[in-house]
Amino acid sequence: MSAAACSEQSQQEKERCDIRRYVIIGSGAAGIAALESIRNADAAAEIVILSEERHGYYSRPGLAYYLTGELNESQLFPFSLRDFQQLGVHPKQARVVRILPDQHLVELHNREHLRYDRLLIATGAAAAKGDIPGASLEGVVKLDNLDDAKQISSRARRRRVAVVVGGGITALEIVEGLVAKGVRTHYFLRRDRYWHNVLDEIESRIVEERLKEHGVHIHYHTELLEILANKNQVAGVRTKDGDIIRCNLVAIAIGIRPRITIARSSGLEIERGILVDEKLQTSAADIFAAGDVAQVFDPFTGMSVLDSLWGPARHQGSIAGKNMAGAVEAYFKPVAFNITRLAGLTTTIVGTVGKGRDDDLIGIARGDSEIWRQLPDSIVAQQDFDINRLRLMLGEKTILGAIVMGDQTLSKPLHTLVAEKVDISSLRAKLLEPNAPVADLIAEFWAHRKSVHVPQYA
Ligand SMILES: Cc1cc2nc3c(=O)[nH]c(=O)nc-3n(C[C@H](O)[C@H](O)[C@H](O)COP(=O)(O)OP(=O)(O)OC[C@H]3O[C@@H](n4cnc5c(N)ncnc54)[C@H](O)[C@@H]3O)c2cc1C
Repeated sequence: MSAAACSEQSQQEKERCDIRRYVIIGSGAAGIAALESIRNADAAAEIVILSEERHGYYSRPGLAYYLTGELNESQLFPFSLRDFQQLGVHPKQARVVRILPDQHLVELHNREHLRYDRLLIATGAAAAKGDIPGASLEGVVKLDNLDDAKQISSRARRRRVAVVVGGGITALEIVEGLVAKGVRTHYFLRRDRYWHNVLDEIESRIVEERLKEHGVHIHYHTELLEILANKNQVAGVRTKDGDIIRCNLVAIAIGIRPRITIARSSGLEIERGILVDEKLQTSAADIFAAGDVAQVFDPFTGMSVLDSLWGPARHQGSIAGKNMAGAVEAYFKPVAFNITRLAGLTTTIVGTVGKGRDDDLIGIARGDSEIWRQLPDSIVAQQDFDINRLRLMLGEKTILGAIVMGDQTLSKPLHTLVAEKVDISSLRAKLLEPNAPVADLIAEFWAHRKSVHVPQYA
């Protein structure tokens, strides 16, 4: 109803006219965090949350553990219908096909139009398909969502053979899931080691050795040329060197692309993602974007960056929601932080740790941050023992980044030391001595710095 129409209504209808209508596209980490903060700020608001996802809201990082059988399906869902009811919303399954910014409308797949006062685009990202001949055959899989994980599970059986292509965390999660199901797995790497622009050589080899111990056949310097078919089913692959491997399943994890189609067709400013300012506002009035789809301006570096991490998606959603409800709050990019598992080994990546391009990926991967690869001049302090490894990237006075593999005692302290740019000058020379007990030195330093504020991320 327009403001002019409102002015002619009864008192009761006038009150209704004052109620804002918020529409959120996407019920993932960012969309749900926005929903919570809008409701917190505006108890009377009418909120519509739309998602084309038939399973609703669930943990995408949890899919890796679902694949290995460590989590069952019900454990993936952090929200029940009752939680939605308490927030006064009924999630609606629908696909948005168009936004009409001038009319403040979104159009759904069934041609229904929904009016909004404030709109959030939180459509996430989708696995890049690449242009490999045969990629549309039955038996070619990716890992974006729960249906993909179910498809992988249903195709993964003992005595089957799979080929996994790609870099970063997702490729490894698929490899581990397949191995756990007894599938003979070939893993193709374009270069001579795994994730060379984030991990150093020792870390890559730790991961690779663990995969090999579990029977994974790693093919170095190997690229997929085409996927071979038998009656529209995967029958094998041919490599660029002409080798043929017979297999029943091909998993492609070569990176993700933000889902920007509706933003592009609505005339919003986009680059790789939807461009947003520090307040998470897009180029269009009353439209915000958050999560994997948003390319967020960082006032400190002057760059607009993509993340594909659960924590930042929630944090952005939460700030976007507040701003949609009338606050003026800037999103400050938290230090990139992820606790993940690489070949069964818990690994924390904090801050900036590497450089360059990952040839196994197109753009960014799931659970990844572009920040990890923006390393300025720095020097390495490191210590390893068996499977436990600690690598610190040291600037002049601060720790710029860290990788903690295995024993995680120091991962939270290091997160804080990096995030708070704590001055470690007094420690630097000792950390850089040959065979320095780096872990003990950091633990001791931390013990005397307990008053350091620990950042809280949603
Ligand atoms: C297998 C896997 C492993 C991961 N591992 C990690 C990890 O270890 N650590 C980490 O931090 N992060 C990890 N991530 C990434 C993390 O899950 C994402 O960063 C996070 O989910 C992004 O949240 P989002 O709300 O932006 O998008 P999503 O959670 O992707 O939600 C987007 C929603 O939008 C909906 N949507 C899209 N287009 C439309 C449309 N046109 N109309 C209606 N609805 C639409 C989708 O259906 C979906 O519900 C992983 C992700 C995957 C898939």
